[in-house]
Amino acid sequence: RRGLVWFRRDLRCVDHAALHHALAQCETVLCVFVFDPDLLEPLARAPDRAGHRRVAFLHGCVAALDAALAVSGNRLIVQHGRAVESLASLVETLGIDALFYNRDYEPAAIARDEAVTARLQALSCVCFDFKDQVIFERGEVLTAQGQPFSVFTPYKNAWLRRLTPADLAPRDVVLRAAPAAEPTAAATMPTLAQLGFDAAPETPPLAPGSAAAEALLDDFLARLDDYHVRRDFPAVRGPSYLSAHLRFGTVSIRTLAACAHQRMLAGSRGAETWLSELIWREFYMMILAHHPRVAAGESFKPEYDRIRWAEGTAAEEAFAAWCAGRTGYPLVDAAMLQLNTTGYMHNRLRMVTASFLCKDLGIDWRRGEAYFAARLTDHDFAANNGGWQWASSSGCDAQPYFRIFNPVTQSTRFDPQGKFIRRYLPQLAKLPDRDIHAPWAASATVLAEAGVKLGKDYPYPLVDHAEARQQTLERYQVVKATS
Ligand code: FAD
Repeated sequence: RRGLVWFRRDLRCVDHAALHHALAQCETVLCVFVFDPDLLEPLARAPDRAGHRRVAFLHGCVAALDAALAVSGNRLIVQHGRAVESLASLVETLGIDALFYNRDYEPAAIARDEAVTARLQALSCVCFDFKDQVIFERGEVLTAQGQPFSVFTPYKNAWLRRLTPADLAPRDVVLRAAPAAEPTAAATMPTLAQLGFDAAPETPPLAPGSAAAEALLDDFLARLDDYHVRRDFPAVRGPSYLSAHLRFGTVSIRTLAACAHQRMLAGSRGAETWLSELIWREFYMMILAHHPRVAAGESFKPEYDRIRWAEGTAAEEAFAAWCAGRTGYPLVDAAMLQLNTTGYMHNRLRMVTASFLCKDLGIDWRRGEAYFAARLTDHDFAANNGGWQWASSSGCDAQPYFRIFNPVTQSTRFDPQGKFIRRYLPQLAKLPDRDIHAPWAASATVLAEAGVKLGKDYPYPLVDHAEARQQTLERYQVVKATS
């Protein structure tokens, strides 16, 4: 039997379910990655080249996977075309009998995979799909009544109760050299420019590939026990920074969950908290799988679609200021600059900026969701949508609508010395710690001594938080009767 493994969000060749099964079932196993214009073109067309950093990361991961396969005498076949046509043509020209791939849970990916399967089956190629992206998928963790959970903590408890060593065991891969005559990536790997993207994004992209993920993991494991105390402070190296690697599968979720689980059993509170975050990732994937309507722009709680969001010129200006990091609230602005310049934003800041957009500026969370989606290297539909619906209170197990983050309090609590703010807003660097969170409240003398001219070096606040809070409570009245 000749098998073909189709790599997608699983760009590694260790602990890989589809590759493991292909090697067990086929004498010859070939590997393919498809750069699909259906996914790339919207990013290439985006007005400010926002998605280029993510595609550069993906491109680097594909090249790293090819290099890793080459060590054992295999190569990656790299195609540039629509998945259905590319795979059908490969199956015919290479005489493939079976396609192996790991399941994806986004509605668009599911539709694509169904189209691929139908086409290949018509060519007498059997298709096998596997669970690999998660420890437990859609129907595996259910309530006692067999229903999907919509609250996180009971989901997490059920998830942990269900866990056995077999769920965390690596799906071993022992590669055999492919026959020399088989096609390789070397001849087919398109350049970034050929894909329609810039070769050199402005800032160095996150290092791609499994070796880079492993280095990040090693670095993080030395800090894991303190994760629960450090993770909320954006100026501190608290979290793992593995999100983009998890997104593209350069590291396996089983490896990460096994590390966390083992250390948790040994008494590490940091590991327990981190495992909980990995379970949030699966929670939102499960929500998406059971409620695909959220991918069509609907609120998880339908009554939240009655909210009338701010519109018109003032709202457009406010949205542009939020995007550009010009709201006049330093923590919000520094966070947006982190996103715009690096493609990453710290989790605490994702919550603060998302809350600020919907609950201080009164702007529809879907606009923020789309802005993040275009820029985050780690963009994952389920986590991003889940995070935005949490912040706007429209999601399952979201924060209540009347809980409104105060952007200044968040700043004094989570960046007390303004270290993170100073990193992204050097024009405020000389303000004392006490004043950096709300420069408009600083005295004229303090501002003069720090060399800050409000309205010139840094904007006045776009809104008054107390007033905005009141308006938001009024705006959200429409959901009150039913929530
Ligand atoms: P760590 O703290 O080291 O966490 C480890 C991993 O757990 C993360 O890599 C991620 O896979 C998972 N994780 C952690 N927190 C969450 C969470 N709340 N929801 C789901 N998974 C989680 N995460 C994404 O991976 N992609 C997104 O597009 C995304 N968009 C978000 C949008 C908003 C508005 C909010 C509030 C959160 C979003 N998150 C998203 C979740 C979280 O902010 C990031 O996963 C985290 O900041 C990534 O950094 P890290 O890898 O260092 O995290």
